[in-house]
Amino acid sequence: MKNQPFQSALSVQEGVEQPSQVNPNFRKKPTVDLSVEEYVKGILDGNRVILSRAITLIESYNSKHAEKAQRVIEKILPYSGNSLRIGITGVPGVGKSTFIETLGKYITSQGNKIAVLAIDPSSERTKGSILGDKTRMEELSIDPNAFIRPSPSGHNLGGVARKTRESMILCEAAGFNVIIVETVGVGQSETVVKSMVDFFLLLMLAGAGDELQGIKRGIMEMADAIVINKADGNNIKQASWAKAQYKSALHLFPPTDSGWEVAVNTCSAREHTGIDTVWDTIQDFVIFTQQNGFFLQQRNEQLIAIFKEWINNQLDQYFYAIPEVKTTIEEVIPLIKEKTMTPYQAGSKVLNISRIFAPPKR
Ligand code: GDP
Repeated sequence: MKNQPFQSALSVQEGVEQPSQVNPNFRKKPTVDLSVEEYVKGILDGNRVILSRAITLIESYNSKHAEKAQRVIEKILPYSGNSLRIGITGVPGVGKSTFIETLGKYITSQGNKIAVLAIDPSSERTKGSILGDKTRMEELSIDPNAFIRPSPSGHNLGGVARKTRESMILCEAAGFNVIIVETVGVGQSETVVKSMVDFFLLLMLAGAGDELQGIKRGIMEMADAIVINKADGNNIKQASWAKAQYKSALHLFPPTDSGWEVAVNTCSAREHTGIDTVWDTIQDFVIFTQQNGFFLQQRNEQLIAIFKEWINNQLDQYFYAIPEVKTTIEEVIPLIKEKTMTPYQAGSKVLNISRIFAPPKR
């Protein structure tokens, strides 16, 4: 050692060339724009890459993409609808992703193909999706019979819902026969999810204190099943107690439109217990509602609701874009404040601008 010349990792080694900062093997992958026909064929063939790209097209805010996406949807529509659509909600931390992973794997083990989509209202605030950013459902995401798509970002819930609805149609045409739409149980998004699914599942926790706290009564009223998660370890007893509480609380609720008695189950998503019962409950619901006609009736009502909502949106957009409408609104607002015009008179004046809205002449 003594006679060895001094060596240090910090010493400058002469004659070593600085490597290139750019990987010379890196070639930008050319993004080939697919035609409508290529999208349609790829989706119908169950090509997941093309399915993903088609969903990206739907989610795009570029008007050229929107037009193409509509043509794809129109061609795909006749091949859609053959799935069971399940909505899942619950407060953050209740175990939604763990539950969907466990349930999803159980569903695929039964020979089904499952797609998981999400509506995440918080993506608006964070400009990213909490449902999508976390590494979630790691095992399900590598299951060849599962397809997971994080929530589209967007400024309004209606727009995000529409994208999710359209993605669902594409997934169905690609051969996924179970679709799960997930949302965080914190606001309006449950109503939106409810409006696009056949079965709505509320995931809950057995907590100390009032069992009905923490989730809005309105959301409970929408549920076809309440599942109390984390029924494991020391929590088992508390979970069965909570189950009894929910069951008796549900008797106070008005009867469901479907005639189905809301199921209350317990499960442990982590320990994979009670998951088979949840899936059996969902299957029972399908048989029950297919027999009494509610299944089809609900789907038809959902379509009519989309139709009406679309007309309202279009009318709203077109009407307020008329320049004379804008100026007249500005003119009448001070008159309403001064009380020289009632809000109704001012409203009629604005509506009279458009032939469509003018009251019929007598
Ligand atoms: P999300 O926010 O509703 O999607 O909830 P996550 O699935 O991320 O779960 C939140 C936390 O609860 C994580 O630490 C999970 O490991 C845990 N968790 C989820 N399911 C169970 C369960 O069945 N039992 C127990 N003990 N913990 C669970």
